[in-house]
Amino acid sequence: MYHMTGRFTLELSKLRYFHWDSCCVCHYQFIQNDACNSGYSADGTPLYVCDKCATHLVELAERNNYTPRAYLIPKDETILWRYMDFSKFLSLLDNRSLYFARADHLGDPFEGARGRLVDKPIWDDHLYNFFKSATLNPPPGHTCTLTPEQIEAQCQRLLIEFNEGCAGARKSHFVSCWHENDIESEAMWKLYSTHQENALAVKTTKINLYKSLGENLDIKIGKMNYIDFSKEFPKNNGVFWTKRISFEHEREVRAMITNSNSQEIGIQIPCNVTELINEVYISPTAPPWFAAMVQSVSTKMGYNLRFNHSSLAETPLY
Ligand SMILES: [Zn+2]
Repeated sequence: MYHMTGRFTLELSKLRYFHWDSCCVCHYQFIQNDACNSGYSADGTPLYVCDKCATHLVELAERNNYTPRAYLIPKDETILWRYMDFSKFLSLLDNRSLYFARADHLGDPFEGARGRLVDKPIWDDHLYNFFKSATLNPPPGHTCTLTPEQIEAQCQRLLIEFNEGCAGARKSHFVSCWHENDIESEAMWKLYSTHQENALAVKTTKINLYKSLGENLDIKIGKMNYIDFSKEFPKNNGVFWTKRISFEHEREVRAMITNSNSQEIGIQIPCNVTELINEVYISPTAPPWFAAMVQSVSTKMGYNLRFNHSSLAETPLY
């Protein structure tokens, strides 16, 4: 039998975060609303287990009901690219921090959207019925004593508050966008550099991105979902992990953190630049002096980075 403490070590937090979908003892795959138990065995080993395997626990940190994550976590070795102008690269090196832009400043009006405005009546109906059902069916031991008018007023108020909360969430989510690809992308050079001649791309892996940001589990790193908003809605808790299908070419992996207190349009997160940057690629259209300058500046700033000229700049044989 275990006792409940609410104590989470970093190891237990990591175990739960990275093995969210299954019991770490019997490997049972959780389904919606299954009970999951986080805690420790008699020798202090962290465990994240199903009810059947909860007999291994002597200490329970938390019991939660399983809900699938709205995003997939890329494999550690997944290669990620960030195409940028020289000024942003310089800022990364100089500040030793990665810039996370606020969701409402990412340039896509559908960031954080539950769907299209035209579908608002569907959402409002769904939410209103949900609030009404919850009001009429309180938890065991409680009874609903409200009049029909009071129920109507309460559900309308909840609906307004919910809608305001959804719109406001765009100001509390901060994002660093990366492009998943084993190789360089011609399209990305064009898309993400204002002046392609002065552009470069930082190449990293998911594990290096995670480590460079201090293995902070508050910074979620996940793959974006791309859906047709005319046919489906984002998953539960997935509005910031979903974009329109027309953005699919971005193959975005994002690092995201929430911060309700910041009034800024972006925040700098401390980053171990040497750990982050596996290689730097210089734009295929950059003149030779640009490549030399970038290398010289980064060396003077104390970095020993590996530079490559874009393979797209190779000379063809006809
Ligand atoms: Zn189990």
